Amino acid sequence: TVRTRIAPSPTGDPHVGTAYIALFNMCFARQHGGQFILRIEDTDQVRSSRESEQQIYDSLRWLGIEWDEGPDVGGPHGPYRQSERADIYKKHADLLVKNGHAFPCFCSAERLNEVRAEQMANKQTPAYDGYCSHLDPAEAQKRVDAGESHVIRMRVPTEGVCVVEDMLRGKVEIGWDRMDMQVLMKADGLPTYFLANVVDDHLMGITHVLRGEEWLPSAPKLIALYEYFGWEQPTLCYMPLLRNPDKSKLSKRKNPTSVTFYERMGYLPEAMLNYLGRMGWSMPDEREKFTLEEMIEHFDINRVSLGGPIFDVEKLSWLNGQWLRELSVEAFAEAARNWAFNNDYLMKIAPHVQGRVETFSEIAPLAGFFFSGSVPLDPELFKHKKLDEKQVRQAMQIVLWKLEGLRQWNKDGITACINETAELLELKLRDIMPLMFASITGQASSVSVLDAMAILGPDLTRFRLRQALE
Ligand code: ATP
Ligand code: GLU
Repeated sequence: TVRTRIAPSPTGDPHVGTAYIALFNMCFARQHGGQFILRIEDTDQVRSSRESEQQIYDSLRWLGIEWDEGPDVGGPHGPYRQSERADIYKKHADLLVKNGHAFPCFCSAERLNEVRAEQMANKQTPAYDGYCSHLDPAEAQKRVDAGESHVIRMRVPTEGVCVVEDMLRGKVEIGWDRMDMQVLMKADGLPTYFLANVVDDHLMGITHVLRGEEWLPSAPKLIALYEYFGWEQPTLCYMPLLRNPDKSKLSKRKNPTSVTFYERMGYLPEAMLNYLGRMGWSMPDEREKFTLEEMIEHFDINRVSLGGPIFDVEKLSWLNGQWLRELSVEAFAEAARNWAFNNDYLMKIAPHVQGRVETFSEIAPLAGFFFSGSVPLDPELFKHKKLDEKQVRQAMQIVLWKLEGLRQWNKDGITACINETAELLELKLRDIMPLMFASITGQASSVSVLDAMAILGPDLTRFRLRQALE
């Protein structure tokens, strides 16, 4: 049976690119009556977090993407979180060393830096020079046994080409000379992407791998690993990457890339999923609006076109409008209620509004910004008593950078970001607050803006600051 998977790394906001690749994997599996698996690739211990993992589950589910096996639903091939599979990778790395396909490398960071510097000076592509690949295996094993710090690197052919069979492109030839002796196991005993990905795809019975095109150049390393283990390689499909309207790779500098942003902006999940389905793919009859069921029914991977699909928020909004207009009035009201006119959200806002109004009719003028995407920006409000225009921008830019790095989104964390900015610029917190009111609420004063930022969440807060900086 067909088995596909999505293998996100929980290292940041849930990316629309992840949802797009997940959708195509799920459609491919469903269409073939197979299974779709979710695996968490969290071997980068510094950058991975459980919050980010949870956001991946929540945002995929919000879109209507469901998986048959995964860390949160279980399944017969678990654990599905790579950080819980360390002994499996170690066993496989040891096997590669034993068979001579990989070797321990003891080179220090200083030595590697020197080699790199020399290669750069000679205008060569920096790559490992193979120093430890020439060590006597028995000698190397002794050093490993004695506890010397080391990584495990794979051997790669030095000449010839690797032929990658891609479902969309056919045969793609990539020269082996472009492959370095990839680190498979890090000094901390955890695997890198290459080893963990191959071992897991094999042990989890994955038959088809649909992944982003960004991974195509490194495909030979995966193919070599399948060969070294003597395993059958899954069928490969490298999906075109999402692009900004200017054709560059989709980036959060130019377009919000977090699924949660689109949720907070009030897009319908069905419309969002429909739009992702339109990325590089079309229905046989070219209709723009279709449901997930319809997409699965008519799915054909050969209809994916290789020109980079453009993720255009205006087109998404147009499509969302189509969806909204075709809802019954009851369904429209219900969807709006679910979005932000629900009790949970109102209960977050109410404590900040109650003491500031004399009648309910003042709620909308005071707190309407809680139900908006962007707010009107009044240039007068950005005129500052102490700072000139350039300093105003600088202060807001620094706050934005700090908020982009904030992991735990709450009032204390937000306050700290603004305080740190103030200190850096030798200002006080209260010098920066008027700029926050102006960009977040669109008003000179309102409810506490620090609370407002905490309630609005990271996506809308950062979006408004970015807009104010434009
Ligand atoms: P950004 O440039 O916005 O910071 P990124 O490339 O750093 O994005 P990652 O965190 O590396 O994003 O990627 C998260 C996931 O999203 C990965 O699985 C990656 O394959 C996928 N992804 C990132 N960019 C795109 C894209 N343009 N199209 C499709 N998938 C993408
Ligand atoms: N963890 C990788 C990513 O986040 C998986 C890539 C793949 O599908 O092999 O992009």
